[in-house]
Amino acid sequence: MRMCPICKEYGDVWEVEFMDLNGRRAVMCFECDLVWETVDDDEESQVIDNFESIMKKHGFPHDWSRVKKIRRVLPEP
Ligand SMILES: [Zn+2]
Repeated sequence: MRMCPICKEYGDVWEVEFMDLNGRRAVMCFECDLVWETVDDDEESQVIDNFESIMKKHGFPHDWSRVKKIRRVLPEP
């Protein structure tokens, strides 16, 4: 999905790469820290979690400098 389900049209949504997770790609809303899998799938197929708990799950601190912005999804550039 392209739009953050929490922030809706006010979300700041980016495709990102997590350097701590071997460059794993995901989509993140920088307003509320919500992370989901891709911009393509429908909402039901998305795995949703927030940035802090994803990093905690993998044993890393949630370090924003380890998140690489690939391209902006919303608002449209
Ligand atoms: Zn959001």
